[in-house]
Amino acid sequence: MRPAISAELVNGAFGDPVLYLDFRDARRALLFDVGDVGLLPPRKLLRITDLFVSHTHMDHFAGFDRLLRVCLGRGPRLRLYGPPGFLERLEHKLAAYTWNLVHRYPGDFTLEAREIAPDWSARAARFRSGGAFAREPLPGAQCAGGVLLDEPAFRVRAEFLDHGIPCLGFAFEEKAHVNVWKNRLAEMGLAVGPWLRELKRAVAEDRADDTPIRVRWHDHEGAHERHVALGELRARALQIVPGQKIAYVTDVRGTPENAARIARLAAGADVLYIEAVFLEADGAHAERKQHLTAAQAGRIARAARARNVVPFHFSPRYLGREAELRAELERARADTTDAQEMAVKETLPQVGAPDPELKNSPIIDEGEYDPEEASPGLETEAPVCYFNGEAFALGTYVRSGSELLKCERGVWVRKGEQRPD
Ligand SMILES: [Zn+2]
Ligand SMILES: [Zn+2]
Repeated sequence: MRPAISAELVNGAFGDPVLYLDFRDARRALLFDVGDVGLLPPRKLLRITDLFVSHTHMDHFAGFDRLLRVCLGRGPRLRLYGPPGFLERLEHKLAAYTWNLVHRYPGDFTLEAREIAPDWSARAARFRSGGAFAREPLPGAQCAGGVLLDEPAFRVRAEFLDHGIPCLGFAFEEKAHVNVWKNRLAEMGLAVGPWLRELKRAVAEDRADDTPIRVRWHDHEGAHERHVALGELRARALQIVPGQKIAYVTDVRGTPENAARIARLAAGADVLYIEAVFLEADGAHAERKQHLTAAQAGRIARAARARNVVPFHFSPRYLGREAELRAELERARADTTDAQEMAVKETLPQVGAPDPELKNSPIIDEGEYDPEEASPGLETEAPVCYFNGEAFALGTYVRSGSELLKCERGVWVRKGEQRPD
C-alpha cells in the first residue's frame, strides 16, 4: 500500500515558514524549516526524524529550541541538514544552555547534522545529550545530485539558491510504487517469489519491454523457472502508481538564475510551496529584501509546470490584503502572452548537448510525436525522460542549446528553436 502523506504549512501564509510532512501510517514526519513551532503539539514534534533548514535567519530556525526541549529524554535521534555555516550555528545554539544534568536523562538523544556545500560535499557532526551536546566529528559525505536523503520509498533533493546568502530549496520525491496483482500472476501460471525484487528494479530503471525477467519459485512440485518479457508483466500483472512530489522554496532573490534553479528543482511538482512575500508594485523593496514578489513566484510555478501552488511567507504589511497577493500570483501563472512565454523559457534549465556516454531518451520532432504509437502501455509507463543520466518528470521543459524540449512519455519532443540572444 502507498503510505498516506499529508503536508501542512503550520503557521499559514503570514507566519514563520514551517512545513510539516506527515507519514501518517508510519508515525514519522519530516520538517522543512523550524520557525515558530508552538502550534505543533509534542506528539507531532516527536515524530520528526529529519529536519531540513533552508537557512538560519531567525524566522526559519528560532523554533529549534522548542523542538530540542520536547525531544530531550524522549526522542532517540534527529537528523538535520542545513547550508554552509550550519554546524557552527547549531553548536552555538546548543552551547547557550547549561547541560550538567542531561546525562541522567533516559536515552541518549542525539542530533546528527550535515552541513551542505555548493559542491554537494557535506561536513557532519554529532551532538549527544549523554555528551552534554559537545560537538563530535562524523565522517563527511557526498550528496550526489543534491540528494540529501535517499530511502526506498522517497528521496529529498536540495538546490542552492541565492538570498544574499546561500539558501537551500527542497523537493520531496516519493518513488513510483509498484503494486503486484497476485491473482493475475496466478492466471499467467506464475507464483510470487524473490524474483519480484528484480522485476521491481527493472520497472524502476524503466527498462525496455523486451527485457527478459527470470521468474523463479519453489513449491511442492519443486523448482520452477521461466523467462517472461518485462512488457508482458507490466501490462498484465502490475499497477504502477507514480509518486508525489512536493517542493518547498522560500527566501530567494528574484533573479533569472534562481528562477531557473527553482523551475528545475520543482519540475512537475504536485504541490509547490513557494514564498510570495511582496506585491510586484513593491518590487524594488522585494529586491532590497532579497525576496520574491507574487508575480515572480507565479512565473516560476508556471515554468516548473507545478500542478498546485501554495504561496506563503507573505509580508505582514499585506495583512488583510492576502487576496491581492494570491491573485497576482495566479495571474502571472496563467499568463501565456508571448512576452510571458519568453520570460518563462528563459528560466528553463539549460541541459547542454546530449552526451552519448550517458542515458538519454530519444529526441524527436513535434510532427513525429504520436502519443498512441510512442506509448502503447500509456498507463503503465514510467513518466520520465532522461537527459545525460538525469531523470525529468513528464511535462518538464528543458533547453538543449537553442532547442526547447518537452518530456512526453519517455521521449523528448522538439518544441522549436529559441532565438539565440
Ligand atoms: Zn524568511
Ligand atoms: Zn531569510
